[in-house]
Amino acid sequence: MKPLIIANWKMNPQALAEAKELFISVKRGVKNIRNVEVVICPPFPYLSIINNQLSLIQLGAQDCFWENPPAGGGAFTGEVSPVMLKDLGCKYVIVGHSERRRYFGETDEMINKKLKAVLKVKLKPILCIGETKKQKEKGEAQSVLKSQLKKGLEKVSKKEIQNIIIAYEPIWAIGTGKSCDTNTAMSMSLLIKKIIGQLYSRGALKNLKILYGGSVDSKNVKGFIKEAQIEGVLVGGASLDAKEFIQLVKNA
Ligand code: PEP
Repeated sequence: MKPLIIANWKMNPQALAEAKELFISVKRGVKNIRNVEVVICPPFPYLSIINNQLSLIQLGAQDCFWENPPAGGGAFTGEVSPVMLKDLGCKYVIVGHSERRRYFGETDEMINKKLKAVLKVKLKPILCIGETKKQKEKGEAQSVLKSQLKKGLEKVSKKEIQNIIIAYEPIWAIGTGKSCDTNTAMSMSLLIKKIIGQLYSRGALKNLKILYGGSVDSKNVKGFIKEAQIEGVLVGGASLDAKEFIQLVKNA
């Protein structure tokens, strides 16, 4: 299985010209790397521009709405449907990022609806789960993951689970420069596999990709992929610096 490296640009860069420059630099830098899969998730307004210039890099979105309405039924101001994302060339959609949960009040139930809408149009959802610092300190990390997985995957079939990617993103590690140590990342990844195995069956684990996200950079990426044997990483801050991100992909 090739490691999957997902760049989450979040609400960056602030200008289209910068986004184009960042994308072109990354595209050039990774063009000869075949043993890693690279996905870039830019803000919605940049999707079509990047789609026109794709090569080995794949496209993803950072969020979506939970409806794929029939013609004329899109009365959801400000929202973007999975079917629109598919039309723009996206292959992946991040759902349940902790910033969406925190700033926009997204609940596990809303995230579950988004995930199912993404699956419906045959895109791959990247379901983000992870505990806060407080939950970690109280020893609740495992129960938080279990609950987020159970609710986030409600009514998702055994067949559909094959197309889902789970990103373990401890909230205390996101954007803090304090990444999770590789042992913990490995045990959380094994825990996620165990929970999915219990919710479905061992067969469901065959193609399942678990990613780690939270202050991943070019220096620590190898630890997550090689030592912790995690199937890939979700990268925020480090994906906005072309040189750093290219190095990260090379090191992965
Ligand atoms: C993220 O927001 O998903 C993330 C992993 O951010 P960072 O790499 O900046 O911690």
